[in-house]
Amino acid sequence: MNILGAMAEVGREEKEACCHCGKVWYKEHHRDGVCRQCQSLGRVGPQELARRKRSMLTYLIAVIVIFLVLIVSAIFK
Ligand SMILES: [Zn+2]
Repeated sequence: MNILGAMAEVGREEKEACCHCGKVWYKEHHRDGVCRQCQSLGRVGPQELARRKRSMLTYLIAVIVIFLVLIVSAIFK
């Protein structure tokens, strides 16, 4: 690969399309695939969404387990 090709490769890697508005910007302006404008609008990227989903699921499972324990202790009193 020649130098121009390598530079083009680097340039392509540094740019990224926003996962919300699709605006292509340099990666350093993005966080989790979301551009600054969308960040300021409170939009979150896929990693943050997955993190929230996981913590929500953990909370849900905890609630279900507590509920089951209450039911079982009420039945076998
Ligand atoms: Zn955006």
